[in-house]
Amino acid sequence: MTTLTPGFVAVSPTVVQELSALVGTDQVITAEGEVESLSKDCYWYSPVLKDRLEPRRASAAVKVDSVETLREVLALAYRNDLPVTVRGGATGNYGQCIPLCGGLVIDITGIDRILEIADGVATVEPGVRVINLERAVRTRGWEMRCVPSTWVKSTVGGFIAGGSAGIGSITWGGLRDQGTIKRIKLLTLEAEPRELVLEEEEALKAFHAYGTNGVITELQLRLAPARKWDQIIVAGTDWAAVTAFCSRVAYDDAIPKRLVSLLEPSFGESFKPLRKWLPGGHSLIFLEVDQSATPQIVDEAKQRGLKVTHVIPHKDPKSQPMIMEYGWNHSTLWMLKSHPGHTFLQLGMGPNFAEQSAKLKARFPGDIHLHFEFVRGHKASGEFGEVKAVLIPVVRFVSEDRLREVIAYAGELGIASNNPHTCYIEEAAHDNVLELKAGLKGEADPKGLLNPGKFRRLSTPAVSAALPSFLYS
Ligand SMILES: Cc1cc2nc3c(=O)[nH]c(=O)nc-3n(C[C@H](O)[C@H](O)[C@H](O)COP(=O)(O)OP(=O)(O)OC[C@H]3O[C@@H](n4cnc5c(N)ncnc54)[C@H](O)[C@@H]3O)c2cc1C
Repeated sequence: MTTLTPGFVAVSPTVVQELSALVGTDQVITAEGEVESLSKDCYWYSPVLKDRLEPRRASAAVKVDSVETLREVLALAYRNDLPVTVRGGATGNYGQCIPLCGGLVIDITGIDRILEIADGVATVEPGVRVINLERAVRTRGWEMRCVPSTWVKSTVGGFIAGGSAGIGSITWGGLRDQGTIKRIKLLTLEAEPRELVLEEEEALKAFHAYGTNGVITELQLRLAPARKWDQIIVAGTDWAAVTAFCSRVAYDDAIPKRLVSLLEPSFGESFKPLRKWLPGGHSLIFLEVDQSATPQIVDEAKQRGLKVTHVIPHKDPKSQPMIMEYGWNHSTLWMLKSHPGHTFLQLGMGPNFAEQSAKLKARFPGDIHLHFEFVRGHKASGEFGEVKAVLIPVVRFVSEDRLREVIAYAGELGIASNNPHTCYIEEAAHDNVLELKAGLKGEADPKGLLNPGKFRRLSTPAVSAALPSFLYS
């Protein structure tokens, strides 16, 4: 029997009966082991989160397959003062879907219809898996502007509520940029849950809000015209030469591209399924470029003395191997498997990223493995900005103090840090619409029952008293 954590709210047998009457007995889960696993996501990426969040879990879970049933379950939660944590694919790696105060997990993966694909816009329910949406829109000549490397498991709703960027961001920027999110419909947590419809900029209030200010029931996403993407692996033993060629491709706007990842040799050694194309001791560039650009890239790489170890021609639908499943935080995943005792950071680099990262490595010798993704920036005016390097280094975990030291030194070098070792919204990333998100929470969640604690400063005193502290707290 697990020890209950402070602030734990139990779901009573009477409420379990009411839930069973709403959704059917087999859709209500109370067995401790099952509730435990439905209470967890990929939080273990961070030893800090693992330590603090391991004992946290819901009291019960419920699976819903329609918005109408969801509405009734939310009303029941409100009547009974039950904390509610919504669960999609549960691939979030900041513990976003881990209930801090017990209560109810609502698994919405059954609400998964693609409602319409028309005029470059997809209208979907939140539980649609990203891969299914991407495949569906491609049959109509479109593609998603941005997908996470977890596209197989993650849901569209979870990506919007918990994610930020991914494959495609080199062209389109993050999810919040360029009007990619056109509309979000949400249910409030009230006696009679209301539907709120947030259009365009307003929709950003519910973006990356961890389900704290409404439950997303429908999304409209703008799409891009589909291209034919070749996948290319470039390798070289000279880090400076590999970095220079990678920058050349990343910053050249004339090359249509979806993925530019730059990795030190240790990553290649951990990507076991790709090993035959990843010579030992070589740094790597993983690219997805429009097939029209492939000959130019291959020629230029060779002229620079680099090896093009594999070109995977475009195929619809994509099949294994897919190099995008070794980029973004999948690179981290493979490394964590082969490097126990390591973790990761997320750092926003300047244009001098090569110099900044060399200094960081030199200050912590042997502890830092470099992996960069390149993303399109976004100007306040709404226009496209410059391409930027994001460093997602795998770091040897010595202690929390040492991790703070690495982050502090990165700060001295002018590197911005997004803390992946906290489950609180306001501590994770620099968010210019935090106040608007807070306003929406006030409107949609009067009792503070939606994923309580994750919006730390808006927690009720009872919840606050039970919250763990993370790196910066
Ligand atoms: C190996 C690995 C690679 C990753 N790569 C990327 C990447 O490339 N880009 C990226 O952005 N992220 C990445 N992530 C993080 C995560 O996979 C993505 O953000 C993913 O899209 C989340 O979707 P999900 O369905 O799994 O969400 P979940 O983990 O289920 O949920 C995420 C958050 O959204 C909330 N939520 C879910 N559904 C709803 C809803 N309907 N209404 C309101 N709130 C809701 C949950 O409560 C939770 O707070 C990665 C994680 C891992 C482990």
